[in-house]
Amino acid sequence: MTKLFIMPIPIIEVNFLKKVFINGEVVTKVLHGLSFNINKGEFVAIMGPSGSGKSTLMHILGLLDRATSGEYKLEEKDVVHLSDNELAGLRNRKIGFVFQSFNLLTRTTVLENVKLPLTYSVNKKNIEIRAREVLKSVGLGHRLDYFTNQISGGEKQRVAIARALVNNPSVIFADEPTGNLDSKSGVQIMKILQELNNAGNTIILVTHETYTSEHAKRIIKIKDGMIIDDYSVKNRRIAQDGENLK
Ligand code: ADP
Repeated sequence: MTKLFIMPIPIIEVNFLKKVFINGEVVTKVLHGLSFNINKGEFVAIMGPSGSGKSTLMHILGLLDRATSGEYKLEEKDVVHLSDNELAGLRNRKIGFVFQSFNLLTRTTVLENVKLPLTYSVNKKNIEIRAREVLKSVGLGHRLDYFTNQISGGEKQRVAIARALVNNPSVIFADEPTGNLDSKSGVQIMKILQELNNAGNTIILVTHETYTSEHAKRIIKIKDGMIIDDYSVKNRRIAQDGENLK
């Protein structure tokens, strides 16, 4: 039987990525030269204790901030030398964000929140259809006309996921997505992220919680701005099972 080998398609390639914050005379070195790749279809959890640099890294990878030095290619495109406008355009087209604090517009309906990233699309009719479609896919087809202050925290996060998805982004970043939720809603959100990954979406989860990271296929652990571990969850489980059998 021939074995099918699928060539990995790189989405994110970083080399010697460093970040230094300078506030007046205070210099804070946060990322100390990180190098790694993330391929299309991966579900990666970036883990580490508070203050280890996870958010800083996510902001750089999500094109919300720039590295101080190092290389960063998004879908093989060098983003280091892009202008602020070019970065913003790329971010809108290629990246979806889900934040701990939902970041939805209040006094605006669920449907309008999800249509927002599509405002610049030419085809107005398709915007409506697409927004309804993604909201339905996260189980919110019955909440389209609710205001975001009239729905639960779990539902708010599902709106945020729909908004992140609506542009068909190349990668979805979820920064502590269950941090403000009760455990039942948290489990639902992780299940949705897992289903999105099963459907081929690339997901990067930033978390300090072990139970949320368990949904990922690969874990990158950082501490004090350095990678201290980077492993496939499946391979490590197999290796551990092997150890236990000895
Ligand atoms: P994490 O997300 O892992 O909790 P962060 O990336 O938020 O960590 O922060 C890592 C370190 O960088 C912390 O010591 C934090 O104080 C520092 N830091 C983050 N943003 C800034 C900033 N704008 N100016 C100075 N220091 C910062």
